[in-house]
Order: sequence, then structure tokens, then C-alpha cells
Amino acid sequence: MIYTILGGGLSAISAAYFLQENKSVDKILILEKEDKLGGLCRTFNTNGIEFDVGPHIIFSKDKEILDLMNGLLGENLERHRRSNRIIHKKKFVQYPFENDLSKLPKEDVDYCVNGFLHNPYESYETKNMLQFFLKTFGEGITNIYLRPYNEKIWKFDPSFMDVQMVERIPKPPKEDILKSAQGETIDGYLHQLYFTYPKTGGTEALIKAFISRLGSKVKICTNSNVTCVEKKGNKYKIKAENQIFETDRIISTMPVNEFCHIYKDSNMPEEIINASDNLKYNSIIICIINVKPDYAFENYAFMVADKNVIFHRISKLDFMGKYYHKENSTTYMAEITYRKNDLNDKSNNKQIIEKIMDGLKTIGFINSEDDINFYEIKRFEYAYVIYDLNHRKNMDLIKEYFKKQEIYLNGRFGSFEYLNMDAIIRQSKNLIETIK
Ligand SMILES: Cc1cc2nc3c(=O)[nH]c(=O)nc-3n(C[C@H](O)[C@H](O)[C@H](O)COP(=O)(O)OP(=O)(O)OC[C@H]3O[C@@H](n4cnc5c(N)ncnc54)[C@H](O)[C@@H]3O)c2cc1C
Repeated sequence: MIYTILGGGLSAISAAYFLQENKSVDKILILEKEDKLGGLCRTFNTNGIEFDVGPHIIFSKDKEILDLMNGLLGENLERHRRSNRIIHKKKFVQYPFENDLSKLPKEDVDYCVNGFLHNPYESYETKNMLQFFLKTFGEGITNIYLRPYNEKIWKFDPSFMDVQMVERIPKPPKEDILKSAQGETIDGYLHQLYFTYPKTGGTEALIKAFISRLGSKVKICTNSNVTCVEKKGNKYKIKAENQIFETDRIISTMPVNEFCHIYKDSNMPEEIINASDNLKYNSIIICIINVKPDYAFENYAFMVADKNVIFHRISKLDFMGKYYHKENSTTYMAEITYRKNDLNDKSNNKQIIEKIMDGLKTIGFINSEDDINFYEIKRFEYAYVIYDLNHRKNMDLIKEYFKKQEIYLNGRFGSFEYLNMDAIIRQSKNLIETIK
């Protein structure tokens, strides 16, 4: 039995890792369009500094998967304590925002506490993300932080997003909000309070660790852009670059919106193509910027909701240890999301870096352009799945269709779900167990 996996990111590699144990499987072929595996878990290098596609950290509530990831990395692992801040009017507020309200100016503390204690939205059923924020946190916390930050990262209005991502966020107890307003900072989201990260090699070290455990059954083909898939009786024919492959089973981890277009089935209902064309996602620009001063101190990631600053998050890479630090300087990664053809997408790198420098001055991380040593900008089309109001309906239709075609959809954009690395590996493990 031959299995072919379309795409070569973490979902493909972890699926191959589990599938190779299946005795009825003779061969597993991974077809990746880029020249190396890893997808969003690749790590790049500029001027000796290794950086990810947006800083990745390893954390999970899923102990089995967390142990697997950490175990694969073995000695090449460092444990860190979260030190994230929200920058609000040049002040550092500890993450999560609602647990450190006393750092805000007095009028903002009052707005947040009053909105929480006297919340007219509490009794409503919430149908979208914005309603959920208002009901759970009240008007002040929503309008000062949650709403502008979410608009900025998603490039999508939270009132047009559903509650799939947020519905499990618990309402903070009244006592905690009062304590936080009076100056007692409380640690929240405890499953992310400690995390791990490879000592060297960035997140791609995890990909390499998986690859080193793949046996002889697994064949990897990079530079293999899959452009056509067709079902022929019980088998499938796949075209990638100039090669044709025949396979018994397919696991697709490439973006499902693209897969729908290359899957040739004359009986594919039009509603499937429409559903796939209506899936929403955003893209990301990342900028590595090495500067002379260090005004981030012992902190790692900073969330910036301010609309006048182009990036939504900036992270100090030096935080991850000596292998991510360059002497006498500080290296940041700024992240900017965009949607196809919007202003950020259309801006060239020179325009983007100018806006980043303005942002760095606004938040007080540089004094002038002279503080910059070097920078590098990269763009990635697929970054975040957007749970817009039609996402669930669209994906249910698409999943149902491919189930009938006996094709497995796996991965962040393969199954079009907001999945982090741990959830990706869990999804692969569960999928391979059903194949057994
Ligand atoms: C900014 C950012 C920060 C993140 N931070 C974290 C974090 O801190 N912690 C965490 O756990 N997770 C994090 N993640 C999530 C993590 O990166 C993903 O969960 C994971 O990388 C998804 O793997 P995947 O294989 O599903 O998708 P991808 O990595 O997107 O892989 C899909 C692969 O398919 C290939 N492909 C596409 N089309 C074709 C084609 N036609 N033919 C052949 N190949 C094709 C692509 O080149 C790619 O290699 C973050 C993601 C982003 C964007």
C-alpha cells in the first residue's frame, strides 16, 4: 500500500512518523513544493541569527504530545518562563492584559473595572468574537485592548468572526480584576507560563528531529509542486512538476482552498469550489531587525494594539539564549499581517521598514534610524486561518466531500483549522490511528 502526503510541513512529517509503524503500509511519499521541508516550522538565518516564521514556542496542555516534542529535541532544549508584555501608551502591561490593570493610566483602569463590574452584555448569548469579548470582559478591556489588537492581527473585524477560538476562555473572577486594578499582578493562561525552545537551530530543529526518525519506507521529494490530483478507480494519479505518481491513498496537508482547484473530479459540486473560495486566511510579513540599544530588558514578546504602529507583535529573539544573541546589540522580530492586495501587501520592503522604524520609535525601542544595524524582511502567504462566520459551514461541506473521495485532510491549512504545533501532531496521530 502506497501513501502519498501532499506538502512537507509538520503535519506531513508527523503523519509519516506515525504512519511508518503501520505494517500494511509499504511506502510513504512526501511531496513538498519548496526546496526543503518544514513549512511554517522552517528556520532562516540572517547575519548569523536564526529566526522562525514568527517566533514559535513549544507548549501544550496535551502532555503526551508535549513529551514527544521535548523528547525528540533531547538535549537541544531550553526551558523558559513567559515574560510577555502588552505595550499600552508606552507602558508595559503584563500579559494577559486583564491581570495587570494597575499599569494603565487611572482613567483606563476605571473604564476597565467599571465595564467589567457593571456589564450590560453579561446575559446575552454570544454569536461572534466581539460579543464574546464584551460579555466576558466588559466594554473597557474590550475597547482598550481586545478589539483593536484582534482587528490588527486578523485584519478582520471580530464581529464577523465566530467564537470557535475564544469560547473556552474563562471569565475572570471579579476578585482577580479588582486585585489586578489595585496593583496585584496575577499570572494567567498557566499552560503557557513555561515553555521550551530549541537551544540552537530554531523551530526547524523539531522538524529535523522528526526527519531523523523516519525510516526507509519514507521517500521525500522536495521541489515537487503538486499541480493535479485525479482519482482513477481505486488509485490516485498525482502530477508534481514533470513527474506523475500513482498512489493508493492521499493525505493532503497543502492549503485545502488550493487543493479543491487541483483535484480533478467532473462531478465535484459547485458548492465545494464556492466554499473553498470563501475560506478566509491572512498572510504575514516578518522583519528581523538588529538594533544597538536594548529597551525591551528581560522581556520576550510585546503585543501592540495601537493602530499607528504597523506591527501587532514584536519579540526580542535574544531572550531565547546565547545562540540567538549577537554581541552588543538586540535583535527583534516584528510581525505584520496582511490580506491579499491590501495596503501592507502592496507596500514594498522599503515602505514597510520605514513604518517599522516609526513603530519602534513610537514604542520607545529606538531613538532614531541610526540605531539600526541591519534588517531582513520575509513574506509568507499562509499564516492564520480566520474563523469568519461561515468558516464552520464551509469546512464541514469540504470535509464531507473529501471523506467521500477517501482523501484525508490534515494540517493547519490542509484541514483549515487554527492549529498550533502540538495540535498538528495530535491531529496526525489521531488520523493515523483511524487508518489502523
Ligand atoms: C506567525 C506564526 C507563529 C506561530 N507560533 C507558534 C507557536 O509559538 N507555537 C506553536 O505550537 N505553533 C505556532 N504556529 C503554528 C505552526 O507553525 C503550525 O501549526 C505548523 O507549522 C503547521 O504545519 P502544517 O504542516 O499543517 O502546515 P505548513 O507548515 O503550512 O505546511 C504545508 C506545506 O505544504 C506545502 N505545499 C503547499 N502547496 C503545495 C503544493 N501544491 N505541492 C506541494 N507542497 C505544497 C508548503 O510549502 C508547506 O511546506 C505559528 C504559526 C505562525 C504563522
